Amino acid sequence: RTIQHCELVTSAPDKSFWPESQLPEIVLAGRSNVGKSSFINTMVNRKKLAYVGNTPGKTRLLNFFNIDDTFLFVDVPGYGYANISKRQLQAFGQMMEDYFGTREQKIGLVLLVDARHKPSEDDITMMEYARYHHLPVVVVATKIDKLKRSEISKNMRKIASTLEIPETEIVQFSSETSKGREAVWKKIDELLES
Ligand code: GDP
Repeated sequence: RTIQHCELVTSAPDKSFWPESQLPEIVLAGRSNVGKSSFINTMVNRKKLAYVGNTPGKTRLLNFFNIDDTFLFVDVPGYGYANISKRQLQAFGQMMEDYFGTREQKIGLVLLVDARHKPSEDDITMMEYARYHHLPVVVVATKIDKLKRSEISKNMRKIASTLEIPETEIVQFSSETSKGREAVWKKIDELLES
């Protein structure tokens, strides 16, 4: 899969900044440090479209990336920072409710979880947003290269049971090796075709 053209369209602090495009949108969400920037860069084969090693300061913006004028990735700020204030947490919830509740062109959620860890309460909340809004979810287990072969199936079972999805729906992914890249593209193509 080769991407010809991709660019950051806008970083939106709120709804009034969302792009006017009618292209379908795929939301990318996950805990901070899960490997989301690396995931975006791997998917589009760029070294630094998305900034790797984001700082907690950039937690409030939805980043819209145009991918080959076919669809947009909507990068949700990484969540799960330990000392986030109540006000910031509310603002995040408001932003997600605005988006999921009103954005007609959303067609799916890619939820990134670290292959080494049990999904967090915040990951479960994100699944619930998607279910509530009837949005198909693709679960991507990142950093799979960090697991021993013998650990993989146990961890995938744990992730599947925590998120209440079939294990077969999890894509094992690594930005180091590009494992899972084509599998994710296949899922995205299915979302775009449906
Ligand atoms: P983000 O905060 O979710 O955007 O995560 P980043 O993409 O910035 O990655 C966080 C850290 O994990 C960085 O040090 C990355 O190099 C590392 N990382 C991301 N993806 C992978 C992966 O697939 N394998 C390994 N081994 N490290 C990764």
